[in-house]
Amino acid sequence: MSLHLKSAKEILDLIKSSKASVKDVYDAFAARIQAVDPKVKAFVHTATQKPNLDTAGTMPIPIGLKDNLNTKGEEITCSSKILKGYVSPYDAGVVEKVKQSGGLIMGILNQDEFAFGSSCESSCYGPTYNPWNLSCVPGGSSGGSAAAVAANEVAWALGSDTGGSIRQPASFCGIVGLKPTYGRVSRYGLIAFASSLDQIGPLTQNVTDAALLLNIISGYDERDSTSVNFHVPDYTKALVNDVRGLKIGVPKEAFVEGLDPEVRAAVEASIDVLKKQGAEIKEVSLPHTPYAVATYYIVATAEASSNLARFDGVRFGLRKNPISTRKNALTDMYEETRFAGFGDEVKRRIMLGTYALSSGYYDAYYLRGQKVRTMIKQDFDNVFNTCDVILTPTAPTVAFRVGEKISDPLSMYLSDIYTIPANLAGIPAISVPCGFSKSGLPIGMQLQAKAFNEEMLLRVSYAYEQNTSWHSQKPNL
Ligand code: GLN
Repeated sequence: MSLHLKSAKEILDLIKSSKASVKDVYDAFAARIQAVDPKVKAFVHTATQKPNLDTAGTMPIPIGLKDNLNTKGEEITCSSKILKGYVSPYDAGVVEKVKQSGGLIMGILNQDEFAFGSSCESSCYGPTYNPWNLSCVPGGSSGGSAAAVAANEVAWALGSDTGGSIRQPASFCGIVGLKPTYGRVSRYGLIAFASSLDQIGPLTQNVTDAALLLNIISGYDERDSTSVNFHVPDYTKALVNDVRGLKIGVPKEAFVEGLDPEVRAAVEASIDVLKKQGAEIKEVSLPHTPYAVATYYIVATAEASSNLARFDGVRFGLRKNPISTRKNALTDMYEETRFAGFGDEVKRRIMLGTYALSSGYYDAYYLRGQKVRTMIKQDFDNVFNTCDVILTPTAPTVAFRVGEKISDPLSMYLSDIYTIPANLAGIPAISVPCGFSKSGLPIGMQLQAKAFNEEMLLRVSYAYEQNTSWHSQKPNL
């Protein structure tokens, strides 16, 4: 029956009708991981604790967790040497919820070190590979999460998205990735990158599965001070195949230089699909879009430099004990630990962020960045006065080759040009498969909606999915 090829919804139906047991499901995915992960390398490690298959809850779905989500009893490292040996003593809010629902945690998934990156190459464990073409990157930073779902090693995965890290790898791997509204999902137990931008969200084979997983992880958590106490709907109710009369804004800034012609053609074709289904397409403008990447790299690095100050060799993971001749041996220990523990991209970001926050430069960079951030948010507010969703490509290109951009950070940063604005504005956004390049690599389109209107994203992408078959294609591994 090839259970591992089924979506979460299909697995639930099979279990409900007694055509498969929870053990059948678990065994099928465990075997799949053994068979293909040596090639894909999505897993940092499989779970040390096997779930209890006899007492499974209502949603016994094989799931993988990004290496920055605290999971009790598992080594969690943000794919960084500095956290090697840190075994988490507690569960993140989302992990608790997954466990309560009966989720079968299969293991911990690779990522760019501290979620800094767009290719999953900066992990201390080495890269993950794109299941559609093993010489290409899966995207990042949640590259392990996206690749594991695309390779059918898990039915669904959780990732985190600070500037696109769920959506861009979903797009590169031909799956669905959703970044919820800031505050919708608890960040408690997510090892922070940039606290005002981070959100945890689902990576799944299709839109129905995204709604199911969002149902599990959404909701207020008093342990996260930015969690919002706001009604959580049943997201599966939004899965209606009807976009008649909905207004879809297409920003003119999205179709600019640097956009791969094949991506452009696929996204334009998707716009036509939605138009034929009765949606109204409107050209709109988000005039501050050109400043989004620069703004993000000020705000995100500033917050990251502050968040990463805790990794000093004292409290977590790695500690170097240099033989110090200086008076201040403690400083030597900090310095050696951080020098040995952090990779190049992490050091680059700590330096950038510390610079942006330093007195004398704070006003020129961080404060100004925050002001531009507000203007970017106002652009969205204006467009959402007249539109239900905004449609753009998810990424300007399809997956690039391993090694192609790793020595050129600037070109890597630009691969998030479409995804970053949603994080700056705090709004929800989804990437759904919308085509393939001639070379057989997936293409994704992004939909963005008003804060706390994930239902609108799910409705439009579900309707799109019902009228296309991109999401049902599988890589040949
Ligand atoms: N690629 C972006 C960065 O490098 C976004 C990362 C993310 O969303 N975690 O910062």
